[in-house]
Amino acid sequence: MNGSLNQKPTMNSISRILVLLLLSGTGLTQPQTMAQIHTTSTAALDQREQRIVTISAATARGDMPGLKSALTAGLDAGLTVNEIKEMLVQLYAYCGFPRSLNALGTFMELVDERGGKDAVGPLPGPLPAGKSVDFGTANQTRLVGAPVKGAVLDFAPAIDEYLKAHLFGDIFARDILDWRTREIVTIAALSAMDGVESQLKSHVAIGKHNGLSDAQIEAIIALVRPVPVQTSAFPVGAENSGYAQYFSGRSYLAPLTTDERLKVPLSNVTFEPGCRNNWHKHTGGQLLIVVGGVGYYQERGKPARRLVPGDVVEIPPDTDHWHGAAPDSWFSHLATVGSPDTNKNTWLEPVSDADYRAATGGK
Ligand code: MN
Repeated sequence: MNGSLNQKPTMNSISRILVLLLLSGTGLTQPQTMAQIHTTSTAALDQREQRIVTISAATARGDMPGLKSALTAGLDAGLTVNEIKEMLVQLYAYCGFPRSLNALGTFMELVDERGGKDAVGPLPGPLPAGKSVDFGTANQTRLVGAPVKGAVLDFAPAIDEYLKAHLFGDIFARDILDWRTREIVTIAALSAMDGVESQLKSHVAIGKHNGLSDAQIEAIIALVRPVPVQTSAFPVGAENSGYAQYFSGRSYLAPLTTDERLKVPLSNVTFEPGCRNNWHKHTGGQLLIVVGGVGYYQERGKPARRLVPGDVVEIPPDTDHWHGAAPDSWFSHLATVGSPDTNKNTWLEPVSDADYRAATGGK
């Protein structure tokens, strides 16, 4: 959206910076009490703003169950029907008509389900007189703080015209949402999408130019991408993206040993609240040593076992099981497999929400 179209910091680098910022701010480098494990960094946003973030992120991801829950919370927090409609309309410019239309459909059904109890609120006022490309160009310059130029915009002048006339003219000139709020919507949506790091970086700058503080921008990104919490003295490591397809929720992996001659490949695995792995089995069996938070272990056909630091789980070879966090706590265990030279893991179906709720006490 501005002159930094060619800069491409990786999402990991942004996340790492945020992790460092947030961890240095909260001192989460030593074993924490349970109260501290629940610490969040989202307090810089008020409740209404937090709902705007979760609605925008769920729309961008196409997560309809998550969106319905976020929309319900947004209406309960006092957002009007017309304000939410405007957010979902604006989002088509950032994540496409399909995501926007699906979100509007979900919202329409929800408003109907709630039986008309929600405040509709005012409609936007009329657009300024004149051509949208003219007031849109002026809006874009004020929003960004300088005239916007870029090689891509010269390469494809049509996109420059549509950005000015339509996005910053027709949409941003509608007065039902102020620009600060519109930037919360945009930063949340971009934070939820892959491969748009340069646009996110631009909008972080635009958000600051329009009244968002560093703490508020960090809070938006933390809400959309939970920052891992270190629950023990062991490192959290990187997001466990290599195994993400076998997990529900986010997990993090920190290998702790390197010498293969020892035949003890040991890692610290950290699960965000609600995260668990699929049903699976190991031909060599597995040993878990719980080091932080609260979690669960379950073998097929048996009650789940609640786990706290100090617990040890010996998982027999070829036994279907899953392990993961409690719904309301981060969780970390050290893990190693038996017979690592020959061990094979077989990944099975995800643990359904219903089975997870039953296993963890219905919370
Ligand atoms: Mn296992």
